[in-house]
Amino acid sequence: MPSSSPVQLGFAGMPERLFVCTPSKLGAYVDCPRRYRYSYVDRPTPQKGPPWAHNSLGASVHTALKNWYALPHERRAPGALPTLLKATWVREGYRDVDQERAAYQRAIGWLEGYVATLDPDDDPLGVERVIATKTSVLAFNGRADRIDARRGADGPEAVIVDYKTGRSGLDADDARGSQALALYAYAAQRVFRRPCRRVELHHLPTGTVAAHEHTEESLNRQVTRAEDTARDIVAAEKAVAAGADPDAEFPTNPGAICGWCDFRRTCPAGAEAPAKEPWSAVESHLAT
Ligand code: SF4
Repeated sequence: MPSSSPVQLGFAGMPERLFVCTPSKLGAYVDCPRRYRYSYVDRPTPQKGPPWAHNSLGASVHTALKNWYALPHERRAPGALPTLLKATWVREGYRDVDQERAAYQRAIGWLEGYVATLDPDDDPLGVERVIATKTSVLAFNGRADRIDARRGADGPEAVIVDYKTGRSGLDADDARGSQALALYAYAAQRVFRRPCRRVELHHLPTGTVAAHEHTEESLNRQVTRAEDTARDIVAAEKAVAAGADPDAEFPTNPGAICGWCDFRRTCPAGAEAPAKEPWSAVESHLAT
């Protein structure tokens, strides 16, 4: 169960403040405490590397889908997609105009295939909707790509949908293991006052859906894990404030992610990782 005991008391009997977080903030620490520190603790923020083309591509596709749902039902047709995608296309990070154009064409193909699977008369509970909830440790908020209203065996339910545009496909284990999806489901149950157990990853390049049905227990387990992460972060931040070595409290966690890390040039471990070009991931995508 997520922590439901009375809040811990801090100095002078004051309650500890809730840890304000998003899924990406928690995920940054789990992936690499040093990356968390560069992103959320060190001020000024160390200089980041240049923007990534794959992030531009992902953001462009997400926004096009958001705006597709903002259209009146009768205009939600594949013919609307080029205008939507062009209107909010993010240009940063591509190698050149030719690559950017090829990525745009690929994205249109993904979107056409994807909207063909959608009911244009469907109005989700939320599209890019910020949902927030609190536990005795966390003040959680996050922006879910989509929250569907569906009919389950026991009546109306909410379903968390997350769009993915990366190269590799995803499976049910990815949906089951995603802390972000579980936290969205946990929050959506409270915000919409209906069950939300199902979480889905919609992989646009392959048109596949990876899904998992959580139980109350598995959602609570993920929230407890998130609370444990929050406690670790707060302990490290307090130690640094009390004079501990920030490098020791927020250690590096070098690995494959370093090549894609925004702080690779700042981080001593990252400097040893092979550099990726901002367009490397898109280049691989277009080669498949
Ligand atoms: S380069 Fe690697 S070790 Fe350094 S902060 Fe980034 S992910 Fe962590």
